[in-house]
Amino acid sequence: MSILAVGTVAFDSVETSGGEVRNGIGGSATYFSAAASFYGPVALIAVVGQDFPVSSLEFLKDRNVDLSGLEVKDGKTFSWSGKYEENMNNRHTIETNLNVLLDFQPKLKEEHCKLDHLFLANLDPDIQNSVLDQSTGSGIVGSDTMDFWIEGNRESLLLMLKQIDLLIINDSEARQLVEEVNLVRAAKKILNLGPQTVVIKKGEHGASLFTADTYFSVPAYPVVDVIDPTGAGDSFAGGFIGYLSECNQKSVEAMKKAMIHGSIMASFNVEDFSTRRLELLTREEISKRHDKFLAMITP
Ligand code: AMP
Repeated sequence: MSILAVGTVAFDSVETSGGEVRNGIGGSATYFSAAASFYGPVALIAVVGQDFPVSSLEFLKDRNVDLSGLEVKDGKTFSWSGKYEENMNNRHTIETNLNVLLDFQPKLKEEHCKLDHLFLANLDPDIQNSVLDQSTGSGIVGSDTMDFWIEGNRESLLLMLKQIDLLIINDSEARQLVEEVNLVRAAKKILNLGPQTVVIKKGEHGASLFTADTYFSVPAYPVVDVIDPTGAGDSFAGGFIGYLSECNQKSVEAMKKAMIHGSIMASFNVEDFSTRRLELLTREEISKRHDKFLAMITP
């Protein structure tokens, strides 16, 4: 099955205890598509400015990601900078510059509207809602968001949540969204906002899936040298939705397996800055790590 992904394509400046990168290639749609592309056809909807080296996305093209929905507009590309604490789990945003994102109003092509699954990666909920209105796919509608939008466009975010099947969100953002410290209670409150399934990512502590009557958890794949966690959440979502598209199922049982694929894709992504690791990754490495991970978590 095919996937339509909308999100950011960005310049990221990141500082971790492993080093730093200025204006690296990043963005929620970039990481998501890079991960999902291993599982099936993906089309990306995003906007960049004239300053963006579109050739840096050549690796996505090589993996058959449809980039015809990437608009290049006058102005500067969305940029984000952040710094990680030594534990690599806590992140502080230093600066967010919306730039060309400010007046981005995607008009989907007919062939994009029909794609099966829709993933609304981290982005202004107004834009997420506009893509939601245009999409007619019959697969899963998933989404992600972050503190910036929870604080900055809550009303539109709540409207979006009413219309989706699945929210994949960080633990700190889940707590912030529903003002609830306990994660189990937070998940229940989020389920009451609309989605039938919530996946809460907990960095090095893994991820948990909640529906009205299911709870399922996976640990994080143990990575010895975490270099840069940026994009781990989007890569997780790419592996998760990617797997559902590959197996052509959307049952809770399939989603449990998708949790494993999400964890694996996130674990690769954190091994280097920007999209470097995902660029070099091969399907064989994914299969090998998948088998290794299964052996680790199955008694
Ligand atoms: P993650 O580490 O998976 O939460 O995602 C990090 C990516 O999100 C980075 O590549 C950023 O460019 C992108 N990002 C940061 N802030 C925002 C925002 N407010 N809206 C959309 N994307 C963002």
